[in-house]
Amino acid sequence: MEKYKNIGLKLTPQRLAVLQYLEGNKSHPSAEDIYRAVKRRFPTISIATIYNILESLKEKGLVQELNIDPYKKRFDPDTTSHHHLICTKCGRIVDIEMDFNPSLPENEGFRVERIHMEFYGVCKDCSSKGK
Ligand code: ZN
Ligand code: MN
Repeated sequence: MEKYKNIGLKLTPQRLAVLQYLEGNKSHPSAEDIYRAVKRRFPTISIATIYNILESLKEKGLVQELNIDPYKKRFDPDTTSHHHLICTKCGRIVDIEMDFNPSLPENEGFRVERIHMEFYGVCKDCSSKGK
């Protein structure tokens, strides 16, 4: 695929499959989710290969790793600055766009480069199930 030509990584079919699965994916999948999806096309692929691929994509800034799910790392192909809502019942992670520009108190010369906020709660589906 043309658009991935200059990412500085050798585009193996497996890497491409992971990139294609992640493209535009808003579900914040775990490595296991990605593994299950890619395995349909590459039945012999291992979870270790998926981890390696994700690591290399992360290094190239093509995916960001989210540590907000205590049970497993989640991956987000959207590397622009945005925040997340997480459902504490089902683990669903949803993007939230909001302007948040706090003026920090004196911070010892520390320069803030990125702000990431996590909001925990119960999603609509889980709320209605609980009733
Ligand atoms: Zn939920
Ligand atoms: Mn996101």
